[in-house]
Formats: sequence, C-alpha cells, structure tokens
Amino acid sequence: MTDALVQALRGALGDRGVLENPEDRARFETGWRYGKGTARCIARPDSTALVAETLRLCARHGARVVAQGANSGLVASSTPDASGAMVVLSLERLNRTIDVDAEGRTVVVDGGVLLSQLNEALLPHGFWFPVDLGADPQIGAMVATNTGGTRLLKYGDVRHNLLGVEVVLGDGRVLSLLNKLRKNNTGFDAKQAFVATTGVFGIVTRAVLQVAPVPRQRATALVACSGGAPVLELLRALEAELGDVLSAFEVMSANALGPVFTHQPNLRRPFAQLPPYSVLVELSSTLPADALHLENVLEACLGAFLERAGDAVPDVLVGKGDEFWQMRHHISESLRGEGRMLAFDVSVPRSRLPAFTADVLQLLAEKHSRVRLCDYGHWGDGGTHLNLLWQEKDVADGRALVVALQEAIYDLAVNGYQGSYSAEHGVGPHNQRFYDRYTDPLVRSLCRVLGDFCDPGDLLGTVRLE
Ligand SMILES: Cc1cc2nc3c(=O)[nH]c(=O)nc-3n(C[C@H](O)[C@H](O)[C@H](O)COP(=O)(O)OP(=O)(O)OC[C@H]3O[C@@H](n4cnc5c(N)ncnc54)[C@H](O)[C@@H]3O)c2cc1C
Repeated sequence: MTDALVQALRGALGDRGVLENPEDRARFETGWRYGKGTARCIARPDSTALVAETLRLCARHGARVVAQGANSGLVASSTPDASGAMVVLSLERLNRTIDVDAEGRTVVVDGGVLLSQLNEALLPHGFWFPVDLGADPQIGAMVATNTGGTRLLKYGDVRHNLLGVEVVLGDGRVLSLLNKLRKNNTGFDAKQAFVATTGVFGIVTRAVLQVAPVPRQRATALVACSGGAPVLELLRALEAELGDVLSAFEVMSANALGPVFTHQPNLRRPFAQLPPYSVLVELSSTLPADALHLENVLEACLGAFLERAGDAVPDVLVGKGDEFWQMRHHISESLRGEGRMLAFDVSVPRSRLPAFTADVLQLLAEKHSRVRLCDYGHWGDGGTHLNLLWQEKDVADGRALVVALQEAIYDLAVNGYQGSYSAEHGVGPHNQRFYDRYTDPLVRSLCRVLGDFCDPGDLLGTVRLE
C-alpha cells in the first residue's frame, strides 16, 4: 500500500531525501546506548525551507516526528518509538554553512554540521568550539541537549557559548533568532526555550556560537589520591593557584580505570597499584611557553601540594596528556566488557561528592552486595558517572534490580543531596519517569504553554516535558 505522507515527502525532498527500506532505516532506529524503534521513514531535508516543508507535511498527515543528529545521545530521545508511525527527521544533510566572523569571534553554523567538521573549519582561523567530549555530535543537537563536556570547568556548556538560533517550529513556522550579540538585554531570551529541551519545541536548523582561541600549550598530570576528600583539596588548591589556566579536572576511581587496561592492551597502567582515585588535571593557555611554561607551573603547584598532603596523595605523574585522555575516554566501553552495567549521569553540589559517593557505597553494601560501583566523572562541575556493574549469574531478577537501583540512587541524588538525576545527558524515554517525578509542576505547566505555542499539533519528540 502506498503511504501518502512518504510520497509527499519524496515529492518535496527528492529520492535522496527520504529513506524507506528497512536496511536504510536501521542506523536511525537504534540509539547508542538505549532506544530502539521502527520508523515510518527517514526524512533528510538539506535546507531550513525543506525542514519547514517536512514538518508542514507531517502536520498535515498527523505524523509524529523525532529529530535526530548524530544519534550519540544517551537517554533514548533520538530514536522513534515502536509504532512504526513516526518520521525520523535527520539533520545530517543540513551541513553546508560554517560562516566564521574572525573579528567577532563567532560562527554561524548549520544544525547538521558535526562538531569535528566545525572544529576543522575553525582551525585555520585559530579558533575551536570548546565543548569537548568523547562523541562527535551535531551542532543543532548540541543545542537541544545543552552538551557539556570535559572542559566545562573552563569554557562552560553550549548554553554559555550560544548567541543565537534559527528554529523551525512544529507546524513549519521559522523563528529566526540569529543574534550575534554578546550583550542584548531586550527582554525574554527566547532562544533558551530550545536549549536542553531535546527538540520538543522545535528543530534547530542554525546556530550562532561564540568560539574560543585554540590554546598554544597544554600541560597534563595524573594525581593519585587516597579518597574523595583529598580530591576536593586538590581541586581547591589548583583553583586558588592556577584557576585562570585550569581546563579539566576529571576523576577516575580504581574500579572504573582498572578495566581499561584489560580491554585496551595498548594502554599501560600509570601507577603500579591503582589508587582509589586518579585525577586527570589539565592546564591550557593561549600564552606561549616562554611567557608562561605551563608544565613547570603545574609541577611546582603539585609538588607543593604533595608535600602538604602527605599519604593522602601518594603519587603524581606530569606529561603524557594523550595517554591520560585515552584512558579517560575508554572507561565507558571498557566497563561494558566487564558484565551487566547500569549507568547514572548525576550531579550534586561538588563539595558533597565524597559524602554522596560514600552513601552510594553504603547503600550497595547493605542492599546489593553483588553490585560494584565504578565511578568517574567531571568532579570540577559536580558531575559523576556512577556505573554499577554486576554479573548476570549473580542476580535472579535483573529487571527488578535495575528498578531498585534507579529508585534508590536518583532519590539519594535529588532528595538527599539536592542534585540532578541527569547532569548532562538530558531527558528522554530512558529517564522520563524521573522527569515526571522530580520536575516542579509549575515548570511543567510552563512547558505546556510553550508546547501549545511552538508545537500546536503535539508532533515533536518522544519526551513529554509538560
Ligand atoms: C562516548 C560518548 C561520550 C559522551 N560524552 C558526553 C559529555 O561529555 N557531555 C555531554 O553532555 N554529553 C555526552 N554524550 C552524550 C551526547 O553525545 C550528547 O548528548 C550530544 O549532544 C548528542 O548529540 P547528537 O548529535 O548525537 O544528537 P542525537 O543523539 O541524535 O539527539 C539528541 C537529542 O536532540 C534532539 N535533536 C537532534 N537534533 C536536533 C535539532 N537539530 N534540533 C532539535 N532537536 C534535535 C533529538 O531528538 C534528541 O532528543 C556522550 C555520548 C557518547 C556516546
């Protein structure tokens, strides 16, 4: 039977613009970690006008739509549901414009441009977009998820660097807010409605970003710490003495780091015995090394800290930045090779991270002794990835264990520590239940008003923010 919507989309977007065969659809239907569904078709418009036309046609046919970037999201919000009725709107062909304003230190970029493509185009101008992570997302999706990254401590998240957006609303209206101004206090900042709201209010087709000069030098160290308290003391000392140039502070527990050396044989253990926490510290600066030698400065600061800290900081290695970052970026996939894993992306006020982690350990010891905590994360921002690991054979009812762990850990983070159940990965079907539970009803009412205006047919996304 011919599908009238698919035919209409083909008429508007051409044959390359619509994918219908199961083999062609497959890569759009399964998420990176969670989310698997069936799409009616994949629409791939290559201009703002065609995104608008796609949404108008979907609205006319009453078809629900989910936007998709590079499909690296971790909460199942970029894939269709199981109905087979949803259209996936892929932005991958909307990737032509990268318009750099060197004097303004800004760039206007299409929503489907990959972060790596943007950085390649910025490099000849001496710039980069410093929201830096282990995946290669699209810019429109980075706005929709407000991506943070390993250097958030210095540069902030996408929201901090976003000056303007162009958005296509659910019924095809185009809202152009392509502002290049850093100062603009003229009332409601409407672009914020499209940041971190996972595409339910509109499709981000273009963004204006503030970019940063590429650092001329970096210095990196790995610091062994005996527990959470010395990690925080180290952070405090570094911020007090080197705060202007501190660009990353990533913490890896022994349980998280250990498996990296089993699954990545090219990487060698940095310390003979892994300490409870290894902290990756990075400094970066646009100053040349003859004006400020970062490695010398880092060595001096850590040397003095080591003397003060005594046994709490048994070892420090300076240099080998690439190797240390590789360790950090291989943790997640290495842990997957160790058994069944349940990942939590939570944050608490950073001064409370040691107490929070201790409470998680106590909870596991008392109620789930077969489950191992393998935590790592961006402690400088209060973010921690709590990965819980167990062997299938040790657990009678895996599904019940997942539910029990989610209930307990999210409750501890949100109610016990005034933290967040989703520090950086956003909201999706994977954590919708917790959004519903923890979001203030007034915020949900506000989202209903915005949704009615931006997406009157209620067609966008697989998440409900109202
Ligand atoms: C190895 C790895 C490391 C990661 N590290 C980090 C990290 O350090 N920090 C972090 O914040 N995240 C991290 N992530 C999560 C993920 O990469 C980010 O959320 C990223 O921004 C998603 O971009 P994407 O292009 O893959 O979007 P997708 O996964 O395709 O989509 C994400 C969401 O955005 C919506 N969307 C997509 N495009 C648009 C658009 N143009 N307009 C409106 N809505 C849209 C989708 O519907 C979906 O809801 C990591 C993921 C992986 C796999």
